[in-house]
Amino acid sequence: MRLWGFRRRPKLTDAHWRAALTATPHAARLSPNDRQRLRTLTEQFLAAKTFEGAAGLEVADAMRALIALRACLPVLHLGLDGYDGWSGIVVYPADFRVHEEYEDEIGVVHRGQADLCGQSIARGPMVLSWETVEHPPAPDQDLVIHECAHKLDTLNGPADGFPPLPAGMSGSEWTRDFTAAFESLVQQLDRDKEPRLDPYAATDPSEFFAVACETFFTQPVLLYEDFPAVYRQLQQFFRQDPIGTTTA
Ligand SMILES: [Zn+2]
Repeated sequence: MRLWGFRRRPKLTDAHWRAALTATPHAARLSPNDRQRLRTLTEQFLAAKTFEGAAGLEVADAMRALIALRACLPVLHLGLDGYDGWSGIVVYPADFRVHEEYEDEIGVVHRGQADLCGQSIARGPMVLSWETVEHPPAPDQDLVIHECAHKLDTLNGPADGFPPLPAGMSGSEWTRDFTAAFESLVQQLDRDKEPRLDPYAATDPSEFFAVACETFFTQPVLLYEDFPAVYRQLQQFFRQDPIGTTTA
């Protein structure tokens, strides 16, 4: 039965919360206080965003809880303002196909298609493959955090790896550190050296930022060892220190 005018607000049950936390090992490091803060934020996220299944997928409450928890981890100390301007989350059962059209430098329009596991449309919905959310292809990957990073990045314009920075952070230092890291990754790949960071980061500066954010939360030691300046920038940006470099 569907009641007109009634919008379902699923409550975050203890069971769904615990299951989502267990399925997200990189949230396990949180202190009891931060864990409580994350739960509150997750409930607010569930109330603020709408979920829609695509290609026949029914988005169960447990799935919403897992996506919401992972979306809230990056903004644990920033609040949900970073996710302003959009509300929809579309969930496909697996990878989905998008049709693209672009014009090259001489004005020829090309059409193509690509299979994606995630997409963030500027001021539009976030699109996710449930299969990739549930079974990340590698331990340093978290599709929800990746797409949320793009959402933060596009708060001040096109995705370019330069999100609006909080007061006290330097835009020129951010650009210096991210550019140096991006170029170093590209050079490693040019020399056929396999980097530890997901090479997808070498696609462009916006993907570098999104992959760096994923790694900051999932494998922070890796990011700290290979790109310490980027780790420090993200530590200031997110106001989190996943490996406790400031308290150790
Ligand atoms: Zn991306």
